[in-house]
Amino acid sequence: MKSQNAAEVEIGLKHFNSVKIGSDIAAADSMIVMSHFKGHIVAGFGGAIKNLAMGCAPAAGKKEQHFRTSPHVVEEKCVACGKCVEICPVGASALVGEVSMIEPNICISCGQCMEACPSEAIDIDWENDIPEFLECVTEYAYGAVKGKENRVGYINFLLKITPDCDCVPWSDAPIVPDIGILASTDPVALDQASYDLVNNQKGLVSSSLQFNHEAGADKFKGAWPKVDGTHQLKYGEEIGLGSREYKLVEI
Ligand code: SF4
Ligand code: SF4
Repeated sequence: MKSQNAAEVEIGLKHFNSVKIGSDIAAADSMIVMSHFKGHIVAGFGGAIKNLAMGCAPAAGKKEQHFRTSPHVVEEKCVACGKCVEICPVGASALVGEVSMIEPNICISCGQCMEACPSEAIDIDWENDIPEFLECVTEYAYGAVKGKENRVGYINFLLKITPDCDCVPWSDAPIVPDIGILASTDPVALDQASYDLVNNQKGLVSSSLQFNHEAGADKFKGAWPKVDGTHQLKYGEEIGLGSREYKLVEI
């Protein structure tokens, strides 16, 4: 749809009165949402909620969700290697003299430069901006399925559970062994169950997990210590997107 074919869906929530959703998705009677469950540098994890939010929004809607998470360069740490400039998909990063600069009006807050920087010179306001970002994501997910209650099916693939989102131009070793495939009609319950099942696994020592390898410990915190991904689950329940309670039925 090249991001031009979008509809405004009224939601009347804390961050958005309305959200931009692809017109054909907004008009659909029902939907099947298939998501790869994995980690994410600024969301903690990505599952059904995040896939709904980003997958159903046109470019302008994606930008609205990321708007509050624009990273900045800590000048004293920058060694002007240019890696952030090379990797930026939208040309928002540029070397100005001996330091890199990020143009916030162009940046789409994908986080790729943060991962590429060898000096950890690119940072975000983790404490304030990230919870707000996760709420924006969850409101977009709410808008994507508004009016389709009980007519959306969700399938999460808990296979090759990498620490990074699938949008980065690389992959990494999984943080836990493969678990299986989960299905539900509730995206919050599905993501909660997926989250718990991942955490119940033993972490793989050959992965990028920094700590929390033991079964029961939070693997996503072990990969991304500064992010509490469960904020999307708590807020999803608060706004009525779904329930965090679930019952696992093995087939
Ligand atoms: S967050 Fe993404 S879009 Fe923004 S400067 Fe970094 S690489 Fe570019
Ligand atoms: S990748 Fe990091 S160190 Fe290299 S230019 Fe960008 S901000 Fe500076």
